[in-house]
Amino acid sequence: MPGLQDVLDEIVAEMATRQGRGEVATYIPQLGKIDPAKFGIAVALNDGEVMTSGDAEEPFSIQSISKVFTLALALGRVGDVLWQRVGREPSGTPFNSIVQLEIEHGIPRNPFINAGAIVVSDILLAGHQPREAIGEILSFVRSVADDDSIVIDRDVAASERATGYRNVALASYLKGFGNLNHEPDLTLGVYFHHCAIAMSCRQLASAGRFLANSGRSESSGHTVVSSERARRINALMLTCGHYDGSGEFAFRVGIPGKSGVGGGIMAVVPGVASIAVWSPGLNKNGNSMLGSLALEQLTRRMNWSIFSS
Ligand code: GLU
Repeated sequence: MPGLQDVLDEIVAEMATRQGRGEVATYIPQLGKIDPAKFGIAVALNDGEVMTSGDAEEPFSIQSISKVFTLALALGRVGDVLWQRVGREPSGTPFNSIVQLEIEHGIPRNPFINAGAIVVSDILLAGHQPREAIGEILSFVRSVADDDSIVIDRDVAASERATGYRNVALASYLKGFGNLNHEPDLTLGVYFHHCAIAMSCRQLASAGRFLANSGRSESSGHTVVSSERARRINALMLTCGHYDGSGEFAFRVGIPGKSGVGGGIMAVVPGVASIAVWSPGLNKNGNSMLGSLALEQLTRRMNWSIFSS
């Protein structure tokens, strides 16, 4: 097997030569300011070692990758009754689509499209002020990453709050269908803030390790989620983690992964490692263009696809 550090360095060198890098998201104005030439990658192995290359120490907006952490937290809070309010099927529609929600009477297809993640935020808001719910999510992310320096980028949260009209529409629609227990504005406050968590590839790869390690945190030795729950979250990441590009990602990369419009992807090789990659330019499905390509190269060279024998 090739040396992992060499593979990471070669991928970074190759990505630097690429011309087509996709388009940086501009619908959240603050994200549009990011340099599209950035590229970082980190692999957190289950034995505790973290290998990095490129801009792997620079924090970026994790956006929808945060939905993996809020789902884990909400399942811990309410258990499987969560599935009465959110489905578990791939959507085949864009991340912010409202059409399916109408047809399916306000039950979002899965927890990773925006409507589903807004319901998950609503679950986490129960019994709390928005500030407390946001604090609880941040504490959870810090604990699984074993890094208390992780913060929320307030400018990104404010930028999305000022312009997130489609999410306002989704939340109002959910409320109209009786699938939101709080006022849309309060639930969206939680949602926008967890999307605005900023993390580096090193921190994100470390945070995902419990999913590669049967639900256990290697650093603390604690069980974050049960092994069955880790397996199920990985299954959802594989089938729903890249919106209407999820089939393509499974076909090309072959491991569970969750993307964000900040250009990050967190991916899991069960039993082996958690990976984070960051390249801000997105493809037409809103997933990192070079991030997906880099993961395809990595899993191929390390023989990490869950479908290989
Ligand atoms: N905060 C973003 C939104 O709601 C998340 C989308 C994403 O990262 O895919 O539009």
